[in-house]
Amino acid sequence: MARFEPQTNELTAPFWDATKEERYLVQWCTACNKAIYYPREVCPGCLLSDNLEWRESPGRGEVYTFNVTHKPGLPFMTDRLPFVVALVTLEEGTRVVTNIVNCDPSEVSVGMPVKVAWEDLSDGRKIPVFEPA
Ligand SMILES: [Zn+2]
Repeated sequence: MARFEPQTNELTAPFWDATKEERYLVQWCTACNKAIYYPREVCPGCLLSDNLEWRESPGRGEVYTFNVTHKPGLPFMTDRLPFVVALVTLEEGTRVVTNIVNCDPSEVSVGMPVKVAWEDLSDGRKIPVFEPA
């Protein structure tokens, strides 16, 4: 195992199905028209609406903050060291927890433009990560 493989459930199935085609979906509230991360059953913005839908995202944003991890939390993560865990602000306005890849961790900075990239999971799904844009 090279990384954790997220579980899928009824709520997140559309997101994970789309990753098989490298399509990045973001959940939106149709009542207040705000993007939502992570997926939920009720909008955390207006706290009223369960009228949520998935919209395809261009997968672009910028680094809001980040951390460079040098010690593995679990043995299987050793091969990935050092790796970057970041909060990325998507163009849609919501922030996602992700990894920044395809660059040296020392090159990552707050405000750096990034775009979605994909890493294969074992079952055909892919996990979205981000790389310099
Ligand atoms: Zn809402």
